Amino acid sequence: MYDIAKIRLDFPALDREVNGRPLVYLDNTATSQTPRCVVDAVTAGYYHTKANVHRGVHTLSVEATELLEATRRSVKDFINAPSAEEIIFTRGTTEALNLVASSFGGMVLGEGDELILTEMEHHSNIVPWQLLQQRKGFIIKVVPVTSDGSLDLDALRRLISPRTRLISVCHASNVLGTVNPIAEITALAHSHGIPVVVDGAQAVPHLTIDVQALGADFYAFSAHKMYGPTGVGVLYGRRDLLEKMPPYQGGGEMIESVSWAKTTFAALPYKFEAGTPDFVGIAAFARAIDYMRSLGIENIAAHEHELLYYTTARMMEIPGMRIFGTAPGKCAIISFLVGHIHHYDMGMLLDQLGVAVRTGHHCAQPLMHALGVEGVVRASFAAYNTIDECDRFLAALHRVIPMLE
Ligand code: PMP
Repeated sequence: MYDIAKIRLDFPALDREVNGRPLVYLDNTATSQTPRCVVDAVTAGYYHTKANVHRGVHTLSVEATELLEATRRSVKDFINAPSAEEIIFTRGTTEALNLVASSFGGMVLGEGDELILTEMEHHSNIVPWQLLQQRKGFIIKVVPVTSDGSLDLDALRRLISPRTRLISVCHASNVLGTVNPIAEITALAHSHGIPVVVDGAQAVPHLTIDVQALGADFYAFSAHKMYGPTGVGVLYGRRDLLEKMPPYQGGGEMIESVSWAKTTFAALPYKFEAGTPDFVGIAAFARAIDYMRSLGIENIAAHEHELLYYTTARMMEIPGMRIFGTAPGKCAIISFLVGHIHHYDMGMLLDQLGVAVRTGHHCAQPLMHALGVEGVVRASFAAYNTIDECDRFLAALHRVIPMLE
């Protein structure tokens, strides 16, 4: 039984008012709210087990280290990685993708080589590659998106050449909601000997992830989008690749020995974890994973899809409504515009009515360009949203549209 009333009690934020009205939080793609169990774990970490990890022999440090390593094992199980050493903690998806671009990309991409990205990527899966491109001079090719927001797989097939060294693609689009067929893409890429990096930021909150079944060589995601703490993310990487890669950042923890003559690096995963990690946040992240498991990821997805279909059908009845992204099996994200109403004005007025949606380019300016718009309004759903909230969002839309037309 998916007890939505009980679930909502776990999220104090959902109880608050905005502009004198009960909050309807539909900005879950940007970040989801945090349940008490995760906040309690952060509090407990600061109150009782705040000692730096990995360095200490004293009890607090041993406990803090064990909490961090327990999360690593938990993440490994959650995404079905072969081993915990292939789980690297980062600050988020952005840092994870920068790590892969800088370290792995720096190794495999040279002058005249080709990297394939897609038109629906978030800036965090574009700009790190462009920074590397400035140093290495390779070519970036881009897979277009079809009219329903799916990836054009025929175009991808045509873009692959003997110079293609790497493909980096999102699992789910933060604008269109499209869920890309990663297993199909990795099978195609691997048949040409090309590794695949997957930006999983928008997939992990909604789908059961099995990195082995997906065939992902790298998989990046952020805790804060999956009911977890801010400042924590994960890079999964295949051991044989991680072992060949140079460190990303230098500092404490990532070394085996340091001398002026020669410095050697620690084994996986520590080679990629320089400095003090957000060990309190990482420990609390395990509670977010437990929380998602307790609800059941399939149950969360089924619930969100009900909200998605219900809301989409009613939005389509509104004259002038344009919804961007209608691919089958999409995640519960609705990006839209109505007539000539500016996305920003729409977002401001909805906020006056207590409805939180996001407006703008959503860190996907190349996609906005392809869609021929400057920005869109985006409503996105999570495990705790209700049909009643969808109705309040729809009623707010009906109220603000005549004011802006
Ligand atoms: N990729 C996608 C698809 C995203 O939606 C986001 C967050 N909006 C990111 C990457 C970046 O995640 P973070 O800001 O947590 O690093």
